[in-house]
Amino acid sequence: MKYDYLIVGSGLFGATFAHLAHRAGKRCLVIDKRTQLGGNIYCEQQHGINVHKYGAHIFHTSDKRVWDFVTSLVPFNRYTNCPVALYGGKLYNLPFNMNTFYQMWGVTTPAEATAKIEEQKREAVAAMAAAGVTTPRNLEEQALTLVGRDIYEALIKGYTEKQWGRPCTELPAFIIRRLPVRLVYDNNYFNDTWQGIPIGGYNKLTEALLEGIECRTGVDFFEQGRAFWETQAEKIVFTGCIDEFYGYRFGKLQYRTVRFEEEVHNTPNLQGNAVVNYTEREIPWTRIIEHKHFESFGAEVDANPLTIISKEFSTEWTEGSEPFYPVNDTANSALAEQYRTLAAQEPNIIFGGRLAEYKYYDMAPVIASVLAHPEITALTPHA
Ligand SMILES: Cc1cc2nc3c(=O)[nH]c(=O)nc-3n(C[C@H](O)[C@H](O)[C@H](O)COP(=O)(O)OP(=O)(O)OC[C@H]3O[C@@H](n4cnc5c(N)ncnc54)[C@H](O)[C@@H]3O)c2cc1C
Repeated sequence: MKYDYLIVGSGLFGATFAHLAHRAGKRCLVIDKRTQLGGNIYCEQQHGINVHKYGAHIFHTSDKRVWDFVTSLVPFNRYTNCPVALYGGKLYNLPFNMNTFYQMWGVTTPAEATAKIEEQKREAVAAMAAAGVTTPRNLEEQALTLVGRDIYEALIKGYTEKQWGRPCTELPAFIIRRLPVRLVYDNNYFNDTWQGIPIGGYNKLTEALLEGIECRTGVDFFEQGRAFWETQAEKIVFTGCIDEFYGYRFGKLQYRTVRFEEEVHNTPNLQGNAVVNYTEREIPWTRIIEHKHFESFGAEVDANPLTIISKEFSTEWTEGSEPFYPVNDTANSALAEQYRTLAAQEPNIIFGGRLAEYKYYDMAPVIASVLAHPEITALTPHA
């Protein structure tokens, strides 16, 4: 008997789709070319620590439907993302808030902080005007007019140059449209109502989503190809790369990627925080993630005598490396649109998720996109 759905990819899009279709009584088969399930949220247990193998993942949302959905499957912990930045041997809180301004200038009130920022913004605008520039021509000028020189040089310049592999003076101004500053002592990175990490790690969420569903790992859709899989299932849900699905017929889409260097340290607590950004250009990594801090708090941290960190390096995407972030330039956007036009003509193939849509999605919006998908709402009309 044919499956109702072949789901290609067990990341959050595929796993959520499979879960909801299975719940609606549909026969689903999930395949993934990796040897594990979960896509980018997969974590590997090492020395009792869940290591985020495809980059640190922090769940955050203000969408009640998404929060109710995920917490009906697994409880979440109280992790709150409060990254810090290291520059010139000094630590600064992020996002830019009263703690940062105190650390930068010793100011203690919002009025003093505002005066300092405004003074530096005026200086930047005056310097540009003296050079005959009225609108920022590049990211550096844009950032200087938004937050002034001190914050730009300590916390933005080096980090951004490492991320993009180019000087800020050669990056377009539109990359930084806004640089919100908070005039309160609040280090919570996200503005969302809810955030946290599934208790026991992300694999618990994947297991709950895929419970009772047939899954095969180490199976690449393209090995047997579309014609074969169409004999196996009524419909295909495809969450892999859209350009690959169409044999790259219009050309290859580009991505940015991150390389991780993992280290095990013989100490219970190396940096005291899950996320430390390194904003100096001379230090090659952009961030260090200390994984245990996502799931252990206060004195719990010392219960495990070891710790694991990942150094993150921004790198150009090459064949074989992980396609992480779509490149939002004109050429890639136009190419993606050509593929989307083909995809829209397929009655029995559903393209979803970050690779098939060539769109950066956080986890909660990916789940929201499945919950609202016409295929799913047709299966669960009263949900
Ligand atoms: C470095 C990084 C950090 C992130 N951090 C956060 C964060 O902190 N918070 C947040 O909300 N979001 C974060 N995200 C976003 C999050 O990872 C995505 O929202 C989520 O992964 C999207 O799920 P998906 O199913 O679309 O894709 P994926 O998780 O990539 O799943 C796609 C799956 O399809 C499989 N596949 C592809 N091609 C084939 C094929 N030919 N045959 C079989 N299987 C195939 C892949 O192996 C993969 O398992 C981050 C993303 C990255 C890249």
